[in-house]
Formats: sequence, C-alpha cells, structure tokens
Amino acid sequence: MKISILGAGAMGCMAAGFLVKRHDVTLVDIWKEHIDAINKNGLRVRFQGEETTVHPKATTDPNEAKDADLVIVFVKSTQTAEALEKNRVLLGPHTLVLSLQNGYGNDQDIMKFAPKDNIIMGTTDRAASVLGPGFVNNSGGRYIHIGPLGEDMSGAEKVAAAFRECGLDTSVCDNKHVTEMIWDKLIINCANNALVALLDINTPLLLEEHLSDSFKMLLGESVKVARACGLPFEESVYVDKNIALLKSLSKEARTSMWQDVNKKRRTEIDRMNGAIVKLGREKGVPTPCSELVVHLIHAIENKYV
Ligand code: NAD
Repeated sequence: MKISILGAGAMGCMAAGFLVKRHDVTLVDIWKEHIDAINKNGLRVRFQGEETTVHPKATTDPNEAKDADLVIVFVKSTQTAEALEKNRVLLGPHTLVLSLQNGYGNDQDIMKFAPKDNIIMGTTDRAASVLGPGFVNNSGGRYIHIGPLGEDMSGAEKVAAAFRECGLDTSVCDNKHVTEMIWDKLIINCANNALVALLDINTPLLLEEHLSDSFKMLLGESVKVARACGLPFEESVYVDKNIALLKSLSKEARTSMWQDVNKKRRTEIDRMNGAIVKLGREKGVPTPCSELVVHLIHAIENKYV
C-alpha cells in the first residue's frame, strides 16, 4: 500500500516505524530539520529501551507523496484543516484518509477535502513522544479501533489488514461505534488533560481529594453534552472508568497537554474542553467548569515567549 503520513511527529513516526515493514511509506512534515535527519540517518525508534532504525521516505514537499492509497492524518487536531489545505495534492479521488487523532471535529475538517466514503476514523491507546530530530520513543499500547465515516466498511477492512500485517493490532467497527469510541476518549481527555497541565502534576495525582472532585466536575459536563448529542453515556460509568485508568498509569505519567505546555506549544484545548463548551452552547447544556479550564489554558499559551 502507498501510505503518506501527514504530520511526522510522535504518532506519525511511531506509525511509520511499523508500517514501513510492508508498505511504501512517506512522512510529510514542515519540520525540515527532522525530515533531513530521517533522510540522512533513517528514523530512530526507541521501544522499551531498545533502539531500531527504519527507513521510510520523508519529505517537506507533498508533491513527492501525492495520490497515496492511504493518507494518515497525524497533525494536532487544531492543525487538521490547515494541513490538509496545504497538502491537498496527497489526496487522489480514491485515496482513503484515516484519522487516529484526539479531539472533536477532525472528521468534519477532513470532509472538506475528501468524500465521506473515503474517510476512516478511529482511536488508539498507543502513545509516543519525539526525542529529537529523526528520533522518537514508541511508548507502546495495545489497540487501534477504526471504522468508516459512511456505511461502506471495505476501506476500513483494507486498512486494518494492512496495519495487522505490520504488527499493529487493529479492529474494525461501524460508524456508530467509532463515533462512540471517539467521544469516549474525548470525555477522558477532557477530564484529565487540562488539569494536569494547569497544576503541573503527575496524572495519577488526580485521584487525590479535591483533584478527583475537579475531574468529576469536568467529566460530568462532558457526559451531559455527549448525552445531549445523542450518545448513550452514563456519568457514573465514566467516573469509574477514569478512576480505573488513573490507577493503572505509571506514577510519572503526564498528559499530552502537559507535554505541550511544557514545550510551550499550542495545545489541543479548543478541540477538547473547548469543543464541549461549544457543543454545550448549541445544545443548551451549561459547561462553566470546561469554559474556565479553556480560558486558563489559553492564558498559559499567551504567556509563552
Ligand atoms: P506532534 O506535535 O508530535 O506531531 C505533529 C506534527 O505535525 C509535527 O511534527 C508538526 O511539525 C506537523 N505539522 C504541523 N502542521 C503541519 C502541516 N501543515 N503539514 C505537515 N506537517 C505539519 O503530535 P502527536 O503527539 O504525534 O499527536 C498527533 C495527534 O495524535 C494529536 O491529535 C494527538 O492528540 C494524537 N495522539 C497523540 C498521542 C501521543 O502519545 N503523542 C497518542 C494518541 C493520540
């Protein structure tokens, strides 16, 4: 399969590290130093302390990766529309587009550039981080769940088979279930991500007194908005789910929004708690706690030098 990965950051490179085993993979990114390093020395991937070097193609020029069979969008959710606009050439009439990004609204952004029937959405618990130009850490993870935005499952089945060939455990579900899975991850992200970034703490500390009350307030608002959007979610189930997740994390775990703030990068807050606020307004669900954390995260971003 000819695969172009739009966004060669942590997750794009992690995916390339697997997919290059069997497919023709090109990483596309605007970060020239990183792309040059991959072309010069290969892509170094660290996993559980062991390092391997793989050799996907890498470019800052989307013309070198056009008309792919599959484009995987791995820019931040706030960058999806702009990145696709600037890299339209990657998409031919039959190109499948897959998003495993976090946040709300990636599907609507992608639909401006590709027919609904070509779009596949999904979630993963896989995680990664960039260690330097041409060098990433694959933090592991177990699953990838994908499903079509439309009714036709054949594209998603093809992508899942291509992923499985390379050791990525991938399951396929229909559009209703994939929407539920994206919301499921969104609710958990909205409960934890911003609080950890604002308080500069390790994620499992959210289990402590006051902090658990805080995540429950955010989570409660997100679940109410999800229900107003037609999703069959229960607040108590999500509280238990988040407690189980927080208990399962390593003591040093930090959320991706903490990583962004720590590196003085724009966060995905507008596509997480910000999306809850926006949808809440549309559906008449009050979301004051979510609105507060959106303002606080933006205030931090505005202080970056
Ligand atoms: P990242 O910041 O490491 O990588 C994004 C890359 O996109 C950067 O290298 C950036 O230069 C590139 N980019 C930005 N604009 C571009 C453009 N116009 N054209 C080409 N490239 C462009 O981000 P990430 O951590 O890999 O996350 C990507 C998505 O995956 C996010 O939605 C994130 O929430 C989600 N996600 C991340 C993890 C994780 O562990 N990192 C896990 C699950 C999901």
